Parts: sequence; C-alpha cells; structure tokens
Amino acid sequence: MHQVFSAQAQLGEGALWDADHQRLLWVDIVGHRVHRYDPVSGIDQSIDVGNYVGSMVPARGGGLILTLLRSFYHLDWETQELRLLASVESDRPTNRFNDGKCDPRGRFWAGTLELAESKPAGALYCLEPDLTVRKVLSGITVSNGLDWSPDGSTMYYIDSATRAVTAFDYDLDHGTLSHRRQIIHLTDGVPDGMTVDSEGMIWIAHWDGYRISRWNPAQGARLQTFELPVARITSIAIGGSDLRQLFVTSARHGLSAADLRAQPLAGDLFSARTEIQGLPARLFG
Ligand code: CA
Repeated sequence: MHQVFSAQAQLGEGALWDADHQRLLWVDIVGHRVHRYDPVSGIDQSIDVGNYVGSMVPARGGGLILTLLRSFYHLDWETQELRLLASVESDRPTNRFNDGKCDPRGRFWAGTLELAESKPAGALYCLEPDLTVRKVLSGITVSNGLDWSPDGSTMYYIDSATRAVTAFDYDLDHGTLSHRRQIIHLTDGVPDGMTVDSEGMIWIAHWDGYRISRWNPAQGARLQTFELPVARITSIAIGGSDLRQLFVTSARHGLSAADLRAQPLAGDLFSARTEIQGLPARLFG
C-alpha cells in the first residue's frame, strides 16, 4: 500500500469509485472540501463547500449529491452551484452528517453524529429518490461505514462507538431493515469506513489501527490484513479501469504534533493493486 496523492487532508473520508467518470470521489469532512482523483493522471480536483461534508455520491441525472452539516445538497461540479434538497435534525445544532452511500435502488443512506462523538445523539437516514427523508435508526453515537451485499439482500453498518460491524436483512423494494445482528468486533483499531467487493467480502478501515482488513461476513472471519504507515485509516474503495485498484483515505484530525512528525503521510491517499474486483459506486436516483 503506497501513497499516491499528498492530500494532507484533515479528515479524508467517503472513498467511492465513479465508474462513469473514472474518478475516485472522496471528501475532507473537517477540511470542507469534496475531491475527484484521477488515478491515470494523478490529478486531484477539489471544491471548497464551506462546511462539514459527510459524504458524496454521483447522481443519475448528473452532478453529485452530498451531505453538508445536517442537509442533503445537489452539487453541479462544473458551476460549483449547491442546491438544497432536504434537511434533518434542526433541533440538534451540534450534530453533523458523517458517512453515507447509495443502496442498489438509488436511495442515499447517511448517518449523523454529535460533534463530541460521546453520546448516542445521532441517527441513520434514508433520502429517497423523490427527496423525502426517513429516519431509520436512532441512538447512534458515531454513524459510519455502510454498504450492501452484491445482491442487495443484506446491509452492513458500523456505529464506531460499538467497535462492531452489524448486519441487517435488507428489503430492497421498501428500503427497510430487519434482523439486526453483530457480525464482527474489532480489537485492533476502531471500525470506520467499509466497502463490499464483488465476492461479497467486507473491507474495513481501522481508525487508529494503521491497517485495513478483509472479512467473510457470513463467518465473521478475517481473511487478510494490509498495513499502512498512518494510524487514522478512514475509508476504502476498489476502483480503477479494471476495478482492481484499492484506494484508502486517511486523517490528520486529532493527531498531536508528535504523532504528525511520526506520520508525515497522515491525511494522504493510498493505493495498491488487488486481485479482487470491486464494485463501482451506485448512483442516487
Ligand atoms: Ca468515517
């Protein structure tokens, strides 16, 4: 796993492979920027969106959907115009959106956290293609990585405060969850972002763990671990022209001056080839 872009992000997050544009989408939540990285040229473009940006997904009708503080917005990358779609938690001024992703039917799921990340004041929401918002789970402390099995019948979800990955049976027609169960508990770092590959295995980013890992969710068994030179590993996507390139984001946020001296690449973008094929980002709408 080697550094491919010196992003020096405060809180790099939300890696997704945009297959239509052959770009890695990612965000710097605390740095208030959305990014598009081209692995062929090595060029990264970014836009200052002016507030905490939790995650960003491509939209079927063009442009991108992102979560900004406690609202969903549409972004036109070319004009940089932001258009408000929906808001949540107007009664919770110290909450913000965190990680989010689309299900196989184009619903955008995204969760919130309280900025101090110490109490279960967050929730998980679903933005429907008709722009209505449903609150699906409450009592969440640090809403984080989520993804679906390749057939869409299972949703995987991380509340980092639990250090666990949970699974739900997923009703694709109605976008509803049932049969919640814990499938993985991490001891080497805190589970953060997550992605599912084409074989249905789960990749987990280990915050404060200097690593990512790949798991068989049916057995709760770890298959592989990949080490990185920085502690705060935040999200993973598998993309590239053949969907066999790993991309990993990281963070500088919260590290001491001594930590940063020991980890000069903290906040950068990392990559490696893999034999395992990933799945491109699902679009909203
Ligand atoms: Ca995260």
